[in-house]
Amino acid sequence: MDALSPQEAPTKRRSANRQCQNCGHYVTKQFVRVFGANDGSLYGCLSCLTLRDLREGGGKQP
Ligand SMILES: [Zn+2]
Repeated sequence: MDALSPQEAPTKRRSANRQCQNCGHYVTKQFVRVFGANDGSLYGCLSCLTLRDLREGGGKQP
């Protein structure tokens, strides 16, 4: 029986776009879209910034 299939598939070195460039924390694609820069870069996440900082654009610039 294999009813429970975990969402975490082992990804081998793909694009690092969904990773916080500041602390290395993994984030979702949607998170980057909302809080990251237009080119897909993300310089802050909830692990290293507050939600307030992110809303003020803290994740869009180094
Ligand atoms: Zn971070």
